[in-house]
Amino acid sequence: LYRPDRANSRGLEFGHRETLRDLTRGVRAIAFPAPEARPLVDGKAVDGTARDVKSPADGKAVVGNVHEASAETADRAIEAAAKGFESWSRTPVEDRARVLDRIADLYEARQDTLLAVIAAEGGRTLVDGLAEVREAVDFCRYYAAQARTLFLDKTMPGPTGEENRYRHRGRGVFVCISPWNFPLAIFTGQIVAALVSGNAVVAKPAEQTPLVAALAVGLMHEAGVPGAALQLVPGDGAVGARLVAHPRVAGVAFTGSTETAWRINRTLAAKDGPIVPLIAETGGINAMIVDATALPEQVADDVVMSAFRSAGQRCSALRLLLLQEDVADRMIEMIVGAAKELRLGDPADPAVDIGPVIDAEARDRLRAHVARMEKEQRVRFAGTVPGGDLGDGTWFAPHVVELKSPRDLTEEIFGPVLHVARWKAKDLGRTLDDVAASGYGLTLGVHSRIDAFHRQVVDRLPVGNVYVNRNMIGAVVGTQPFGGSGLSGTGPKAGGPDYLARFAQEQVVSINT
Ligand code: GLU
Repeated sequence: LYRPDRANSRGLEFGHRETLRDLTRGVRAIAFPAPEARPLVDGKAVDGTARDVKSPADGKAVVGNVHEASAETADRAIEAAAKGFESWSRTPVEDRARVLDRIADLYEARQDTLLAVIAAEGGRTLVDGLAEVREAVDFCRYYAAQARTLFLDKTMPGPTGEENRYRHRGRGVFVCISPWNFPLAIFTGQIVAALVSGNAVVAKPAEQTPLVAALAVGLMHEAGVPGAALQLVPGDGAVGARLVAHPRVAGVAFTGSTETAWRINRTLAAKDGPIVPLIAETGGINAMIVDATALPEQVADDVVMSAFRSAGQRCSALRLLLLQEDVADRMIEMIVGAAKELRLGDPADPAVDIGPVIDAEARDRLRAHVARMEKEQRVRFAGTVPGGDLGDGTWFAPHVVELKSPRDLTEEIFGPVLHVARWKAKDLGRTLDDVAASGYGLTLGVHSRIDAFHRQVVDRLPVGNVYVNRNMIGAVVGTQPFGGSGLSGTGPKAGGPDYLARFAQEQVVSINT
């Protein structure tokens, strides 16, 4: 049995000075520009349309170079995977699981390089990058362990004189489309789940983060994934759409926006041929509900971490804080005080709390949102970007906005903007209805010392991951399987016991003996 407390990878103690010094030194020693990312089809690198990959922390710094795949390359990748599927699907489960264990080992051995690229290309801080490498490692080991038991043939109960064997096999070619906010962990999790379940994979990383994806795929091949079983197709949304539309596709795993998930779903539905399952993990308008019995210092800590860590660029992040009227003013004051202390800057500097947002489009969208909030609502705190030696990056400082009504937040704002609204005890039911009305159901926080209060809130809201009296980000593989419902996704939960089954096809063989 996989025990996360024993099997999950260990992190580093960031309070430990030597550890930090060694890590920073290791990361700084990585030479840039990093190797290129090219499409990989049947184990061979292919040319595409070349462009520079820039750092979000400094638009003048070229991190590396990517060749984006053409539509023809995308088609060829699917066809190569269809061939690769023939032998990979017949590879014994134990051998496939062992490959995942080796990927985990290689990731650990190359941690510094992975961290350096995640920071440079994705703008993620070292603390976030490190958590991400650990999560990727945990996905590999957890899914390997799951596959070893889940994919054993089982004998089903039945009459004597008959044997009924229940087995799983790969579905075929899986297209995995992943986001830039976890350019290693989510990218890896989707791919290794599909592979260990016996599928061949075509992976389309986010447009903004192809370099860490190329590095990861290189390590997967080195670990023993055959070239034909895993293709890499860097490119934009059009390339992703081309992949999804291909008639040979047998499954799609997608993490990103709800709009893109709808689009993929429509494409799959419009195709003739096999009915293709979509595993989608999308966004959320995640709320935290705080009552008057909550511990204020703990709430402030947990709110700041949940809303601003990773510059708020997590789909689990807190977007809407609901404070009971009696404690609202005091809580807002404490939260703003704590937000002021956050340091914004170079993500590779270990003292930095918040790096840049991913690109100019994201920053401009955040600016426009705050400008609208200034007119329509009350901005309680507008962080400023420090001057000095900060690079020419896409910086956006934390903001706290007080809303007139929770219903005024109508879309997921993907960045460090916390929205706050107040509720009165007599209106709790209506406030919970307001939260449910968004249609999303990803994460939820509750802070209260009253058990009956937790239960009431949790029962009313069908969200995927609920966090009581703690922060609401950083789900741990094998401990907090992650994923939502409604507009937030289809399930099954990543890092949980039901994830792999959805990547596989069941078969029952009944033999008259
Ligand atoms: N699993 C991550 C967390 O718990 C969030 C994943 C995402 O943002 O896509 O924070």
